[in-house]
Amino acid sequence: MVLSADVSRSDTSFAPRLPQCSHFIDGQHVDPSGSETTEVVDPARGKAIVSLRLGNEKDVDTAVCAARAALPTWAAKTPQARSELLLALAEAIATDRENLEKLEAINCGKPLAVTADDVDSTIDVFRFMAGAGRTGSTIPAGDYVADTMSLVLREPIGVIGLVTPWNYPLLMGAWKISAALMAGNTVVYKPSEVTPLTSLRLAELAKDILPAGVLNLVLGTGPEVGQSLSKHPQVDMMALTGSVRAGMAVASTIASDLKRGHFELGGKAPVIICDDADLENAANTVTEAGYWNSGQECGAATRVIIHESVADEFTQLLAQKVGSYVLADPEIPGEENLGPMIYQGHYAKVMDMIGEAVERGAEIVLGGNGDDSAGFWVEPTILKVSIGDPITENEVFGPVVTIETFSDLTEAVERANAVEYGLTGSVFTADVSTALEVSKALDFGSVNVNTHLALPTEMPWSGFKHSGYGRDLSAYALDDFSRTKHIAIRH
Ligand code: NAD
Repeated sequence: MVLSADVSRSDTSFAPRLPQCSHFIDGQHVDPSGSETTEVVDPARGKAIVSLRLGNEKDVDTAVCAARAALPTWAAKTPQARSELLLALAEAIATDRENLEKLEAINCGKPLAVTADDVDSTIDVFRFMAGAGRTGSTIPAGDYVADTMSLVLREPIGVIGLVTPWNYPLLMGAWKISAALMAGNTVVYKPSEVTPLTSLRLAELAKDILPAGVLNLVLGTGPEVGQSLSKHPQVDMMALTGSVRAGMAVASTIASDLKRGHFELGGKAPVIICDDADLENAANTVTEAGYWNSGQECGAATRVIIHESVADEFTQLLAQKVGSYVLADPEIPGEENLGPMIYQGHYAKVMDMIGEAVERGAEIVLGGNGDDSAGFWVEPTILKVSIGDPITENEVFGPVVTIETFSDLTEAVERANAVEYGLTGSVFTADVSTALEVSKALDFGSVNVNTHLALPTEMPWSGFKHSGYGRDLSAYALDDFSRTKHIAIRH
């Protein structure tokens, strides 16, 4: 196994400043009232960074009350006033970027190239929402009934509970916080208990910028704090990014009082490669988009479905390119670095999925090994699999790309669609008609042609089927975090 991780963190200049590990409620750092604790672990070493006390239902109630109290004043601010505060927060993040990049790197094991991209995108989404929220559009005011003027107001929904995953901790929080706040809501935010460090730092940065109670953070687990938020009668909407399992658990809880829900859940992205595709481009794209963040990415290009006539050539090209990746601690510089799996249980799941596929007859083209003696490392892996193998339909969330072939394009699209997920997918072809036909036929919330994971802040990111509903990014997110009110005035 090619592992260049050095398990003793020798370079002390790398060490980021740890944030205050407490709730952030009503503008103050507050100790969790629960006695339960959890360790935040450095996945590159498998060692604890810090121990956290977890919150409970009582803490959620305190945070929701603070968010409720702050709502009228925040909602009444002009878009310009909210925009200026979000821009100030973006500037504070930009000023703190080196620290945030390192914090995310030690908590997630991510290479600095990935955490730099996370922080760039975080700054960008705050700036984008700060601008886009000043240009909202609705149906034009006018007399749609004789002598009666109609106008449409766009109002905040109220207090929003936000729950986020461990794979892009800062960025997933930023996607939702920026849109929810700009639309005039107040927020109670529960980051993943596995990777809370950059979210805690974000709360510290917000302390001197946002009015008290506008952004609150409660530490804790999904079943305790996530569910308490979902049940709370003063929470008007729940927005969750995470697994289908967690999405369904929250959706089922909020159904009992008809709260709004916004869900960004798992994915299984097909990459359909036609016989006329530029194979060099396809291989470069899968090398990047299949292994970015070590494949711990909901939109990862993990499932190649390729025309049988070009499968061997593509597989060779891909193996060559992916073979140059090196498993390395974030502290070690390198363009070709990949980080570890996030925690022991996830490492075991990824290794089991590889092992079970191999038992069913999958051929290992590259990788396939793991090492959890110090950290949770899985080699970048390519598997040649047969049609219908379960690994082609289930989310691995690791550095594993499968390759299956097709002879008939219509059947390939049917196969790509025959999964529970519908987040993103791509098609590689030189033919514009094929590109359009396949893009329309793919049952996924975003489809890329001759690229994968093109994710501009201006465009909506949302899934179909069990990948959830609710749009992040773009002006559509502002729509999702607001409600319309029709006022009719007889004159
Ligand atoms: P997870 O579902 O285990 O946890 C996500 C969040 O939900 C965490 O904060 C967790 O504490 C909370 N949670 C868990 N169970 C809950 C419950 N019963 N009630 C309320 N909250 C609960 O997911 P994860 O392992 O942190 O993240 C990986 C998953 O996230 C993958 O499936 C991935 O595809 C998905 N994801 C999706 C997107 C997207 O944009 N669609 C982006 C990133 C990650």
